[in-house]
Amino acid sequence: MSLSFDEMYQAILNKDPTCEGSFITAVKTTNIFCRPTCTARKPLAKNVEFFNDCKEAILHGYRPCKVCKPMEVKGEVPADIASLLRQIEANPSIKIKDYDLVCQNMDPIKIRRWFKRWHNMTFHAYQRMLRINGAYRQMVAGESALNSALDQGYGSLSGFNSAYKKVTGVTPSKTNQTLIINTIRFTTPIGPMMGCASDLGISLVEFTDRKMLETELNDLKKRLKAEIVYGTHPYLELLTQQMEEYFAGNRQEFDLPLHMPGTEFQQQVWQELLKIPYGTIRTYSEQAINIDRPAAIRAVGRANGMNRIAIIVPCHRVLGANGSLTGYAGGLPRKQWLLDWENKHKTKDV
Ligand SMILES: [Zn+2]
Repeated sequence: MSLSFDEMYQAILNKDPTCEGSFITAVKTTNIFCRPTCTARKPLAKNVEFFNDCKEAILHGYRPCKVCKPMEVKGEVPADIASLLRQIEANPSIKIKDYDLVCQNMDPIKIRRWFKRWHNMTFHAYQRMLRINGAYRQMVAGESALNSALDQGYGSLSGFNSAYKKVTGVTPSKTNQTLIINTIRFTTPIGPMMGCASDLGISLVEFTDRKMLETELNDLKKRLKAEIVYGTHPYLELLTQQMEEYFAGNRQEFDLPLHMPGTEFQQQVWQELLKIPYGTIRTYSEQAINIDRPAAIRAVGRANGMNRIAIIVPCHRVLGANGSLTGYAGGLPRKQWLLDWENKHKTKDV
């Protein structure tokens, strides 16, 4: 992005067509992102943020504007793609699989190529990220509903109950069995992340575009019989503070209460990950030997992949036998970035 904030803000006020394609406008108050030329709104400067492209705006929790349709690059969108975008717009929680595409006489490969080419993500990633954003917005809305109900002082107990239920999905009387997991979003130099914590500890730290995020959230909910709500928690305050220090190069070890439900084997593997010092690497086979399961290399790899607490439980410090990056839930470029970052800062006294 070569334009300054003021230049971009001026451009959206003027609906400057020469800026089409050079940036995306996002409006914090509505959670919507637009083309620079959108005719729908003139948001206040304090409510605007700018992104390079649609993907970046989606990763930060925004959804596409129904008026200027920013996903439809240059207005030259094939009819089938336009139809898919409309279907998702009408029902953001919909899950359109390859099979459904075929049933609609569409070619999944063509769809995939179009999304990759114009938006650098797959069609499925697009749907997934919008669903996560939708779920997150609902949580935020629940939180504001509860707050406004509180402000009004609750005329009746039933008013309190229904507001509470809106937020947590359960009635207050049931809450002694229900664990509440608080969730926040925060940004890092390598992309926006989501953090979850309950009174038991931090249970999830992930990039918001992680493929498994939806599954992980549902899994946590089921395993812990918990409800996930929007809002902060003292552990999440600690988390964002320590993450900031990590990404400033001023923290090499995290000091946070972690809560990692899983099988005995997974627990073993994750605990072993926690022993790998900052700026050093292990192979999967070394990790397997260290937990006295030398033959379980693949299983170790799988358990690493099931780690829900990115960066803090440092699965990025494990490489393949030949030093290859192999897999990383947050994507290989991020794994490389983290390894380079730690390598650069490991000698620093902190
Ligand atoms: Zn718009």
